[in-house]
Amino acid sequence: MLAHMESTTSPTSPRGPLEPPPVVRVDYHFHTAFSYDSEVTPEAALERAQEANIDVLCVTDHDTIDGAVKMKGMPCPNVRIVVGCEFTAEDGSHIIGLDLRDLFDTRSVLGILENIKLQGGLVLLPHLFRRGTGIFRNEMRRSDEFVHQVLSRADLVECHNGRDNWENNERSRRLAVSLGIPAVAGSDAHSTATLGSVFVEYAQGELRHGLSPRRIFFPTQAPKAENPAKRRMMELYHRHRKTLPPVVDAAYRTLKGWLKPDSGHAAAPRAQYELGFFGEGASARHRER
Ligand SMILES: [Zn+2]
Repeated sequence: MLAHMESTTSPTSPRGPLEPPPVVRVDYHFHTAFSYDSEVTPEAALERAQEANIDVLCVTDHDTIDGAVKMKGMPCPNVRIVVGCEFTAEDGSHIIGLDLRDLFDTRSVLGILENIKLQGGLVLLPHLFRRGTGIFRNEMRRSDEFVHQVLSRADLVECHNGRDNWENNERSRRLAVSLGIPAVAGSDAHSTATLGSVFVEYAQGELRHGLSPRRIFFPTQAPKAENPAKRRMMELYHRHRKTLPPVVDAAYRTLKGWLKPDSGHAAAPRAQYELGFFGEGASARHRER
């Protein structure tokens, strides 16, 4: 889409008053088949991203960057791939790193945050309050010290996740606003149908993740809440699958086949937030990209 917009906007023929300004659309959270819970191939993902007019796609598979690296190497001039990963910490919390070069072994929450930063990546805290995987989920009863340590290392907060419920998303948004942490949003799509159903829009040429004037788009209906037991089962299987006997492997696949697939969003995304509230304070903690 970027190439298309550039080719239609030449210096000798300025845009007419009715033509919308060129924008860059970023979906910050997406899973390919390299995640244990998605079956979207890199090829299908790139095709869908173009259909959905997504210019930048952050590929954030669970505990691997293989799918993201593969997609980055595929020829697709209209979609830029950001190599990311959604890490699973030892307590089950999910933490996203963006612009990653390598994986690492540590699974403590603070260790993951530090390792993302050590390689020059950005820390994105996804679905902060989601049951089972949100880093600040109610059942964890985090100490003030822990909350401070995590937030002081966060570059971005996911203020809208396409698979979380409205209440949790709203809590995340308020937290980001009240603390001045740059907010972004992602579909968290595990299917082609939902890729690009949530995105952040920037003016072209002004893309600084979570900063710069922008709007956030997402469908109006509330997505279904995720079942934490199902998530835990998938994580455990994935972690131990190399050592499991074939009968367990077969049982898991049968059980997964019975589970209801995630439903796609019927409604098209539309502007929901106008976010122009991050000023000097936010800029100071966030380097330009
Ligand atoms: Zn995810």
